[in-house]
Amino acid sequence: MSRKKRNVIKAILFDLDGVLYVGDHLIPGAPQSVQHMLDLNLPVAGLTNTTTQPISAIAEKLAGFSVPISKSDIYTPAALAVQTIGEHNARLYVRDSLMEDFQGIRIDNDNPDFIVMGDLGGDGYTPDLLHEIFNAVMDGSTILALHKNRFWQKPDGLHLDIGPFVAAIEYATGKDAIILGKPSQEFFHGVCASLHVKPEETLMIGDDIESDIGGSQQAGLKTALVQTGKFRANFVKATGIKADLVLPSVTDLPDALKLIN
Ligand SMILES: [Mg+2]
Repeated sequence: MSRKKRNVIKAILFDLDGVLYVGDHLIPGAPQSVQHMLDLNLPVAGLTNTTTQPISAIAEKLAGFSVPISKSDIYTPAALAVQTIGEHNARLYVRDSLMEDFQGIRIDNDNPDFIVMGDLGGDGYTPDLLHEIFNAVMDGSTILALHKNRFWQKPDGLHLDIGPFVAAIEYATGKDAIILGKPSQEFFHGVCASLHVKPEETLMIGDDIESDIGGSQQAGLKTALVQTGKFRANFVKATGIKADLVLPSVTDLPDALKLIN
């Protein structure tokens, strides 16, 4: 009796920043790795917690790097936020550049049902801004956090992400935010449903051990951790989370896939 399974993986989900590029620098071989998956007839999608750019700009960036992932195959938390807000109203703490993904939302800055916390330009979440959000939540607004990442990698090093600020509001108010991006299981399941694949047939590739790997594992996906971008060996070890595959970079994906497919 053969224990060998054939074609376990039927779709590939790529985290973008840290996996295919870091900031404005392409990871060498990334376009070819993605193309290789397409050549194997595996659908691919890009999942990003990036909330500084609309989907159209992310698609342009990928096209500029010749990465073959189209606009309709890019998934961001903003789309899930719009779906969650629905007929309710909201106050948005997002960059102006992201506003095109929130078209059609009813804005109420005085008495919002939802407060959307995303990445901000300029000084970010200042004490005054946090005070304002804190009071709105105490008055009954619900926080929709586009993600809750602890930190992120910029070319000059690690920076605080929005997670610590979301956590500050949750701690002060005693109310949990609704987290929309990775590691939210709804996010991963929504993408799998769009690609018509089951979570257990889907491989998620990421550089964030908690959001990408831990989150998708919880959602039932197979996982591959790349040692690029924000990857730090000591942080990965401390989480206790183990990916199904650990790859030096996305360039190693085609060979690694042969081991499990
Ligand atoms: Mg990443």
